[in-house]
Amino acid sequence: MLNADPAWKKQLLKKGAEVAAMLSALLDKKEVNLASLPPPKDPKEDPELRLRRWLDAIDRAIKAFGTEEYGRCAVCGEELDPRALADAPWLMNCTKHPPV
Ligand SMILES: [Zn+2]
Repeated sequence: MLNADPAWKKQLLKKGAEVAAMLSALLDKKEVNLASLPPPKDPKEDPELRLRRWLDAIDRAIKAFGTEEYGRCAVCGEELDPRALADAPWLMNCTKHPPV
């Protein structure tokens, strides 16, 4: 089983709070810089949708943390590279199955 570093959970929670704050700023019609988000599915994807999708992914990783499901590719179930997870603990896909 993947040896998840408890520090990753902190990173996840921090990132989740960051993205939630961005979403509420956006809903308040404030200027929000989305440069730190994963690339949009479509260049014209609505910023609110992008933020919600991203927040959702972080949430799923937080819920999966500490279970067998955490750190596995959502498509093939293969364990992800712990070095990649250390950089981005919200990863849910292996390099062969990038999210679409
Ligand atoms: Zn995979």
